[in-house]
Amino acid sequence: SEVLRLSGIEKGYHIGKPGEIRVLNGVDLTLSRGEVCALVAPSGAGKSTLLHIAGLLDTPDSGSVTIAGDDLTGRGDRARTRARRQKIGFVYQFHHLLPEFTAAENIILPQLAAGTSQADARARAMDLLARVGLEHRVDHRPAEMSGGEQQRTAFCRALANAPSLLLADEPTGNLDPGTSDTVFEALVQLVRDTGMAALIATHNLDLAARMDRTVRLNAGTLV
Ligand code: ADP
Ligand code: ADP
Repeated sequence: SEVLRLSGIEKGYHIGKPGEIRVLNGVDLTLSRGEVCALVAPSGAGKSTLLHIAGLLDTPDSGSVTIAGDDLTGRGDRARTRARRQKIGFVYQFHHLLPEFTAAENIILPQLAAGTSQADARARAMDLLARVGLEHRVDHRPAEMSGGEQQRTAFCRALANAPSLLLADEPTGNLDPGTSDTVFEALVQLVRDTGMAALIATHNLDLAARMDRTVRLNAGTLV
């Protein structure tokens, strides 16, 4: 079933008096459950803009965004924020974990905020950390973990509330190539195991080749 549908997305930015630069010029994309899709784009092509629109952090000038069957076009901030919290997980190049909390706590907190019980939240955190091979890091703080371990913890946090869509922007971009490979593999496995759909922006064509599909952002459209 369909998790993300982008139809006819257009987005421009006004810069200075006369001009508008059109970054997205009719983007169409549909992702189904379990599908892992690479988004490849040269720097400045509009990859972040597209991820922000798909993640309901920004609105397009025209076109529609449908998440898990819910058309959020023209809906208010509250509906969009609720949909974002319930249905979308984000991963960035830098992990953004809370430094004063342990790996498990970083994954438990967003679940408590969503109304999950402490016991269920802890059980899910343990399960997610075990899936990425971090059973032994449950009670460690980010500063006590390697870059790859921090990033795997961030993947678990993104999946804490069982979203249906994962959006990732260069998720292994700050890791050395060897670590990047295993950490990336862990992310793709996690996505497949949980039946999410994922859109993963990367410059790394070897990593892109391991996903189900690659779309390229070029001159404002996807090819
Ligand atoms: P990418 O992530 O592919 O590097 P971005 O989506 O960040 O690209 O940006 C695409 C283009 O839009 C760039 O030319 C950038 O300078 C411009 N842009 C992005 N955000 C803004 C903004 N808030 N205001 C003006 N221009 C912007
Ligand atoms: P909360 O207030 O519960 O932390 P938000 O609704 O603000 O959640 O954000 C939901 C998700 O969107 C979070 O994963 C957060 O990291 C991400 N997010 C929120 N605002 C931005 C932003 N301006 N840029 C990038 N990601 C953001």
